[in-house]
Amino acid sequence: MARPLIADIDLDALRHNYAVARALAPQSRSMAVIKANAYGHGAVACAKALEAVAPAFAVASLEEAETLREAGIRHPILLLEGIFEVKELARVEALGLWQVVHSDWQFDAVMNYPAAQPLPVWLKLDSGMHRLGYDPESFVDRWSRLKAAHRRVRDLHLVSHFASADQSDTAQFEHQWRVIESIRQRLEAPLCIANSPATLAKPVTHGQWNRPGIMLYGSNPLESELPAGVSLKPVMTLRSRLIAVQSLQGGEPVGYGSRWHTSRPSRIGVVAAGYGDGYDRHAADGTPILVDGQRCPLVGRVSMDMLTVDISHLPEADIGSEAVLWGRGLSVDEVASHGDTIGYTLLTGLLPRVPRRYHSGA
Ligand SMILES: *Cc1c(COP(=O)(O)O)cnc(C)c1O
Repeated sequence: MARPLIADIDLDALRHNYAVARALAPQSRSMAVIKANAYGHGAVACAKALEAVAPAFAVASLEEAETLREAGIRHPILLLEGIFEVKELARVEALGLWQVVHSDWQFDAVMNYPAAQPLPVWLKLDSGMHRLGYDPESFVDRWSRLKAAHRRVRDLHLVSHFASADQSDTAQFEHQWRVIESIRQRLEAPLCIANSPATLAKPVTHGQWNRPGIMLYGSNPLESELPAGVSLKPVMTLRSRLIAVQSLQGGEPVGYGSRWHTSRPSRIGVVAAGYGDGYDRHAADGTPILVDGQRCPLVGRVSMDMLTVDISHLPEADIGSEAVLWGRGLSVDEVASHGDTIGYTLLTGLLPRVPRRYHSGA
């Protein structure tokens, strides 16, 4: 038998979540963010599953866009950070990609590039996150110059990114929104500013376009619960099996560094999954795992290929019992909270050695 660890990817759930994003922002077009190998789910499979409903995709690099083009994806693809080198512009043109421009070296490159047809540009405003983009005054200047360059540039959009649209304290969000809104009014700029948190919780930001990512995969990025009536389905279920069971007396150590000890006679299951697969080594004792559908606490340090779980309350569980690490029945966000991390890192961190198995009823 092969190693039992598998990531089951439910493409119907992906389509469901995309439909949720669309329904939340009915006046916007939603580009599906499938960077970082679709947050670990497989960019080509996810693009193909969404091709019929999503008008465009967004990725982080030319290489990610090339992978999609090579697989036959013809939709527009936005490079969220634009080019990294001037020489990439030729490929951007040849592949028909859309690009963000956030810095003057990119701006100059586009203005000097002898494109056969004008190139679509998504100009980035730094509205207060202070990561990428132009300050408001420079933004207005670059916008006007791009607008005037009809032979070089077409379809100008304003893009910006929120630092804290997920938080219950809305002060920074409101500041960023005021900056964006004043520029939008001055320039009559079409907007593309909403990530998943803003798509879910800030309807005011739903512009001509939005850019949901993590919510498409079924993770809730908000500090709070999802808005009433919104339900996302987990796309990835990471499942494995028990490959050994230890019956131990009380007071016995389990795993590296003996971080955890039995406090009574216990049965400990050994699951084939570890940090060499992307399961977080920081997962604390008590991190939930579903063994035969029942919640059990992780105990002891996570190893590279294995981890240990207390199954003392499940006398039926044995070698071969199923162990779900996250997904259906156990949200990746809850698992992440036990490792002082977020669903994004667990999903994107799933390593290539874990086989992805795709399911779709359609
Ligand atoms: C990753 C990314 C997104 C998607 O963010 P989520 O929080 O996953 O929805 C949107 N915009 C930009 C610029 C990004 O880098």
